[in-house]
Parts: sequence; structure tokens; C-alpha cells
Amino acid sequence: MRVTTAMQTEEPFALIRLITQSYARLVLVAFALVPAYLIGYLYFFQDRTLKFENHAFHEIAIAVATLEGLFVTYVTWQCYRSSGEPLLRWMMLGFFGFVLIYALHGAFTGFAHHDIWLFLAYGPASRLAMSVLLLVALLSYRQPADPAGRRVGRRYWLTWTIIFLVVDVLVALLATSRFAGIAPLRLMESTALTLSVLNVAVLMLRRIRSPLMVIYGISVTSFALSSLAFLLGSPWNHMWWLAHVIFASGFFLLSYGVAQAFLTTRSFATIYSHEELTARLAEAMARTESALQELQRTNQKLEHLAATDPLTGAANRRHFIERVEAEVARARRDGVPFSLLALDLDNFKWVNDAYGHQVGDTVLQGFVQACLDAIRPYNGVARVGGEEFMVLLSRTSLDAALAIGERIRAATAGTTFAGETGRKVSITVSIGISQFGSDGDTIDALLRTADQRLYHAKRHGRNRVTAT
Ligand code: GH3
Ligand code: MG
Ligand code: MG
Repeated sequence: MRVTTAMQTEEPFALIRLITQSYARLVLVAFALVPAYLIGYLYFFQDRTLKFENHAFHEIAIAVATLEGLFVTYVTWQCYRSSGEPLLRWMMLGFFGFVLIYALHGAFTGFAHHDIWLFLAYGPASRLAMSVLLLVALLSYRQPADPAGRRVGRRYWLTWTIIFLVVDVLVALLATSRFAGIAPLRLMESTALTLSVLNVAVLMLRRIRSPLMVIYGISVTSFALSSLAFLLGSPWNHMWWLAHVIFASGFFLLSYGVAQAFLTTRSFATIYSHEELTARLAEAMARTESALQELQRTNQKLEHLAATDPLTGAANRRHFIERVEAEVARARRDGVPFSLLALDLDNFKWVNDAYGHQVGDTVLQGFVQACLDAIRPYNGVARVGGEEFMVLLSRTSLDAALAIGERIRAATAGTTFAGETGRKVSITVSIGISQFGSDGDTIDALLRTADQRLYHAKRHGRNRVTAT
């Protein structure tokens, strides 16, 4: 019956889960394509000849982008230094290369009229450089981390700075050569577009779905769409500006991902999805819980060990004194007395001498058991010396304690303890008793009195109980 109910509730749930999952993915793709809708809107409804030519605005925007790009490069570098992920190394080079090339696009804004190609060329060149490096970055996703000692140093930076500056020079040469024109720019832009599309395709084919890589995928989609908008636009018209905005939004998003990595694991690969995090958390909590229980069990064992005598299992002196202290406090509060028994096995040295120490040990264990049987329902035999024991009788007057002491004595005398070799050993015990109140109201006084009475019993022939 219960099984069918579970099936009935779980099956539609699994279906809903599947639908929800597909919906979430679809929405994510739809969101990543928002720039495409804007591009379509401008493409179909906007007059392409409308322009907004504002050099200062362009210069300021690119100066801000340059500074931001440098900052993001730095943060990515810090993440890389911590995790050593090759993906982060290539990504930081992507940002760095982009900044070093794109900055000149801003710097040459003033050339927009008398040297249009010099002004324009650095745009597609920077996006091409970045798309190449980001593709390499993705291809190195989840590759083994660079060893700590071999993470890039000054020389690496210097080499790549030189490479990017050489690219700057080559772009300048191209833009001022006789090959300058719209064709090479379009070629660079469409190559960047192709590489970014390829990047997203690889991401999807490899089914990489960790949250930061999703952010990465949306950003690269933006870069691809920005290249598309640049291809459709012309300098200073709205499509051209929109292309800038789309690129910037992709860059912002990716830098947000880098910031998240920096603030958490400093890695792109070990940031988990919410689902995975929840599962990991549950697992970690279960492990903590069982470790805690284990610890509690160990603690209880330790507490028990610290309170007991290992040979006989009786309480040890320290634990016994604690219990008597508590009993004294209780008796002071409610005025009901308790009694103490001091027990010492008679001529025990002789048992050892005659049968051996090991048999003596077995007798001690047997004696504790006999004692516990005799004092039931009380429990609380303590071993306070070699063959010396004490019993605490809570809420028990001297008379009742005398009867119990007598029971112990008789049981001991009447029992034959079997040694390991099967030899029967008989022993006797002498007992002294004291009572809270009539024999004092401190532990010291009570122990002293019980001891004096025990020795009185010894002096008067052993195998006896003394309560006065
Ligand atoms: P009394 O009747 O006067 O108490 O005589 P006794 O021989 O019992 O007293 P004594 O204090 O002279 O000797 C106590 C003996 O108890 C000495 C020691 O060999 C023995 N003993 C003490 N602890 C242990 C133990 O853990 N195992 C064994 N087998 N013997 C022990
Ligand atoms: Mg003794
Ligand atoms: Mg003894």
C-alpha cells in the first residue's frame, strides 16, 4: 500500500522536475539572446543613417573600460595564483590582451575623420584577440592546475605584453598600409564572431553547467552578438553603439563571475551549482552528525573509563568521592541520612601467596560481583585500594546498613571463588560502617569513622561487621 502511494506522488513529481529543468535551460538561453532581440529591433526599425558622433563620450567610455579591464585582469590573476587553473590563466590573458589593444581604439578617437582605419581597426583586433584567448581558455577547462611553484611570473607577463604590443604595431601597419579598408576589419570581426560561437558550442557540447561557466557562456554569447552588431553597424550609428553596449554587458557579466570566484573558491571549476551545493551540504551535515555521535560515544566511554577501576569494573576512588559529596549535599538538604561501608578483604596477602597474583585478581572481580548481588537494589561499589572497597548506601540508616553489611559478609564467606586453574578459593571480609549525621556530616569524618570501625573488626577476629 505504502509503496504505491510513494510511486503515485513521485512519478508526476519527476515529470514536473524534468519540465522545470528544461524550462530553466530555455529561459537561460532566451536571456543570453536578449542582445539579439535588440539587434533585430534596430536592424528592422531604425534608420541606419542616424548617427551619434560624440568623441568625448567615446573616449571616456573606453578609458573607463580600460581601467575596468585592468582591474578584472588583476582579480583574475589573483584567482589564478590561488587555484592555478589554466582556464583562469588564459582568461586573464584574454582580458589583458583586450585592454592593451582596445585602449588604442579609444586613444585614436580623434583620428576618426582623417584616419578612419587606424581609429576603427583596434576594435575588431581587440575582440579577435580576446575570442582566441577565451577559446583556448575554455579548451583548458578542468585541465590539471599549474603547480604552485610554476605559476606565471614576471617573464610570462612581459612576454605576453610584448606580444600584445606587437599586435598593436601590426594593426597600425595594416591600418596605414594599402590593404587598409573595410574588408580586413570585417574579416577580423567575423573571425571573432565565429570563434565566440565555437566557444559557446564547445561549452554546450561538453555539457559544462557549473554556475560560473554558465555566466561565462552568456558572456561569450554577448561577445559573439556584439561582433554581429559591429558587422551590421557603421561608425557612430546606433547599431555601432549598441554593439559597444552588448560587448560591455558581456564584459561586466564575466567580470562579475571572476569577482564571485575571487570571493569564494578562487576557481572557476570548483564553484558548484545550487543543486550540487545542497547535496554536498546534506552529505557534509550527515558526516558531521555521525562524527558527533561517534564523539559522544567515545566521550561516554572515556567518562566511564575515567570513573571505573579497570580490573573489577567498580567505581574508582575519585568517582566515589564525587558521589559521596553529592550525597552529603542531598542529606544536608532533606535531612535523610545515608551510610558508608568500608570493606577490606581478610588476609588477602595470603591468597596471593598461596594461589598466585592472577587468582587474586579473579577473586577481587568475583568479590565485587558478590557485593553487587548482596546490596541490590543499591549499586555503587567502589574500589578505593588494592583489596579495599567502599559502598555508599543512599537514604539508609545505620541499622539498615548493618543488615546489608552483614549480607555482604555472609555472602562472601559463603562463596567459593574459582581461580583460573579451577582451584576453589574461600575468603572473608571485614566491614566498618558509619552514618551521616550521627558520625559527622563531612566526608572526612564519615570515612575516618568507617575506617576505625573496620580496623576494630579486624582486631576482633575479622569476618565481621562493626557499626559502633
Ligand atoms: P588484612 O586481613 O589485615 O587486611 O590482611 P591483608 O593480607 O589483606 O592485608 P595487607 O594490606 O597486608 O595485604 C593486602 C594485599 O592485597 C597485598 C597485595 O598483595 C594484595 N593486593 C593489593 N592489590 C592487589 C591486586 O590488584 N591484585 C592482587 N592479586 N592482589 C592485590
Ligand atoms: Mg588492606
Ligand atoms: Mg586486607
